[in-house]
Amino acid sequence: MKDVIVIGGGLAGLLNAIQLRRAGLNVLLFEEKKYPFHRVCGEYISNEVIPFLKKHQLYPEELDPSVISQFHLSSISGKSLRMPLDLGGFGISRYAFDAWLAEKAKNEGVELIHDRVVDSIFDGNSFTIKSKSGDQYHATLVVGAFGKRSLLDKNLDRLFLRKRSPYIGVKYHIKTDEVDSSEIALHNFYGGYCGISRVENDVFNLCYLSHRSNLKTHGSIPEMEKGLLAQNPHLKKIFSHSEILFEKPEVINEISFEKKEPVLNHILMSGDSAGMITPLCGNGMAMAIHSSKILSELIIENLKEGLNRSKLEHDYASKWNNQFAQRLWAGRHIQALFGSSIVSSSAVGLGKSFRPFASYLMKQTHGAPFS
Ligand SMILES: Cc1cc2nc3c(=O)[nH]c(=O)nc-3n(C[C@H](O)[C@H](O)[C@H](O)COP(=O)(O)OP(=O)(O)OC[C@H]3O[C@@H](n4cnc5c(N)ncnc54)[C@H](O)[C@@H]3O)c2cc1C
Repeated sequence: MKDVIVIGGGLAGLLNAIQLRRAGLNVLLFEEKKYPFHRVCGEYISNEVIPFLKKHQLYPEELDPSVISQFHLSSISGKSLRMPLDLGGFGISRYAFDAWLAEKAKNEGVELIHDRVVDSIFDGNSFTIKSKSGDQYHATLVVGAFGKRSLLDKNLDRLFLRKRSPYIGVKYHIKTDEVDSSEIALHNFYGGYCGISRVENDVFNLCYLSHRSNLKTHGSIPEMEKGLLAQNPHLKKIFSHSEILFEKPEVINEISFEKKEPVLNHILMSGDSAGMITPLCGNGMAMAIHSSKILSELIIENLKEGLNRSKLEHDYASKWNNQFAQRLWAGRHIQALFGSSIVSSSAVGLGKSFRPFASYLMKQTHGAPFS
């Protein structure tokens, strides 16, 4: 019997596993893919997480993260606005960062199994976890860190799945001289937006979110990029003067920003499994990291006093909502400002005239630094 089984080895799962293991708990982590691997993500992490990562010796200094301090926003027609970021961030590929954290987790005694969890059954006292390869495992607690969408969400009959999501996400790594290495750029196109910023080793991440109907209209990703994204002159220049380092893009579909439950069927959800913020906020990873801290601390404190499951679930759901619910709401509404020519131009215009307003919008989706 394990103390905790963590399902999913992204940032939320890896960091929950490490913190719980460091408190002396017996932790089993499931990740279905083998590290290192690429994922669709803009790879810009808000600096609000630095004090926490440094305090726990988990800031990936040796991987040479980039420093990002400027924001560059452009409308569909190419009108643009540059402004300093209040807090700023750093750029690191998930390919490198997740694998580095997974190595640390293993070295510290987290048991890592590369298998897909297909079911989680709670019998009133403990969990039985079933894996794709047919094995069964038992644990007192389960942390669900299985990301934005997983087969497990279907098993749990989660409400967010009932509404089809219209978004797809596409990501490349590129070499380019067209982007300032200290900036995160957000270039709009009809029905979507594209983020570009530097990660490690002079490589840039280019990642966009597009309405699914764009792909249907244009027939393929390359045609959509030529016919639609390139209507924004900044994107046209970047696509035509950069070297794309992937043979084919990483693509995901059905990205949902609907409300989710932080606790369901006694599974304590962390990261995107608990709720996903729109990518234009550049804050999903910081939220995944922060939620792992809140959850791990509550688990450790609760177990010390002798497990009180209903208190743990209640305390976590209420802390999660206090910390993140408002940010997710703001992210959904700010996303509505982007991807239509009138609204994205006026957002750029508004930002130019009223920089404090643009700053205010950013603050609505970001948290304060935490340790
Ligand atoms: C287009 C796009 C751009 C983004 N850009 C940014 C950005 O620039 N900055 C930012 O901060 N955030 C960004 N995000 C959000 C960010 O990627 C997520 O918030 C973050 O990855 C959440 O981490 P996580 O650990 O919760 O989930 P994930 O990183 O998705 O990890 C979940 C893991 O669970 C595993 N898994 C799933 N099901 C199972 C199972 N049944 N069994 C075993 N393993 C399983 C998966 O393989 C995966 O490795 C972006 C998102 C999108 C879609």
